Amino acid sequence: MNKGKFPVEKFQNIETPFYYYDSEILDKTLNAINEEISKHDNYYVHYAIKANANPSVLKKIQEAGLGVDCVSGGEIKAALNAGFNANKIVYAGVGKADWEINLGLDAGIFCFNVESLEELHIISSLAEAKGKTAKICFRINPNVGAHTHANITTGLAENKFGIAMEDMETAISEANRLGNVEFIGLHFHIGSQILEMGDFEALCVRINELLERLASQGIEVSIINVGGGLGISYDDPNGKPIPDFKAYFDTYAKGIVLKEGQQLHCELGRAVVGQMGSLITRILYTKQGKVKQFVIVDGGMSDLIRPALYQAYHKIENISSDDAEQTYDVVGPICESSDVFGKATALNACHRGDLIALRSAGAYGEIMASQYNCRKLPAGIMSDEI
Ligand SMILES: *Cc1c(COP(=O)(O)O)cnc(C)c1O
Repeated sequence: MNKGKFPVEKFQNIETPFYYYDSEILDKTLNAINEEISKHDNYYVHYAIKANANPSVLKKIQEAGLGVDCVSGGEIKAALNAGFNANKIVYAGVGKADWEINLGLDAGIFCFNVESLEELHIISSLAEAKGKTAKICFRINPNVGAHTHANITTGLAENKFGIAMEDMETAISEANRLGNVEFIGLHFHIGSQILEMGDFEALCVRINELLERLASQGIEVSIINVGGGLGISYDDPNGKPIPDFKAYFDTYAKGIVLKEGQQLHCELGRAVVGQMGSLITRILYTKQGKVKQFVIVDGGMSDLIRPALYQAYHKIENISSDDAEQTYDVVGPICESSDVFGKATALNACHRGDLIALRSAGAYGEIMASQYNCRKLPAGIMSDEI
């Protein structure tokens, strides 16, 4: 079996389950992003911090010069604590509470991505109370479907996110009428784990239509924020550790011709941190069922919920064994039938005590961990820290 490289000896002293972050993969990923955006003028990447807010991970992303995309006040705090400059923070979310808006105003974040007219009014009045003006983009729902899991597509017409296209002009004129908001651009986000560049091309076509519509009314847009959504290879983390950022940015460069003074912003999450991470868990028991063999590991859906929540696939490797492969169902200890990491999975023969790696778990892994069943939260450990 083609397996990832892990310092298995060093793992013996670490309490399982834990997240292992390969700093070399993260560095290479960040370098690849910076190399690609350096080829395009006025391109800016905001890391979607909801994918992984581990402080060691954030430090590297901050040092690489990326901005941050936040979806809550807690995320704004995490970004500021990690040393990100407030003027590189953008803030989206359908339900921004007053304290969260005030936090953004006090910190002086770059932009609020506004998702409803009522929110626009609240931001303006909270800004007025502070004698400030908030820069805003409208999140427009482009009605572009993405070829991905139904739970993670966000761009279709009937969706809780964003403002409908037909309401765009009303929203902009309302922003111009209000005293304490400044309209600077449009924001979009069509979904997640998107591997077909055609989906991003469809978004470009829609964005161009909207920009032309606004231009014909004399409305200038300086920020075009295309959101995130670039996927990773869950099937082949060893062969494809770095997402195809060239194809991604070239798609936008071809699809949207920026005018003088316009900037293209994007918000990548999974593509930045997904492949660097693995959940490392230890085999507690092997069990022979009537027809199946089970491997019961000490990590469960409380540590990595994606398989239970979205039927997501994570490649599973026994990193302690080179014995001939056998077929197992890999399950966790949580009292839920959905606490299954893999069915009929080929693994090098398993024994109590072996370490199992669940690959491509750097995004939406540690950050979504819970204490269900009164369990401890898993640690997140960077490879250069052990
Ligand atoms: C989640 C999210 C992202 C990041 O999505 P990925 O699929 O991880 O790239 C970007 N923008 C917004 C508004 C989001 O909600």
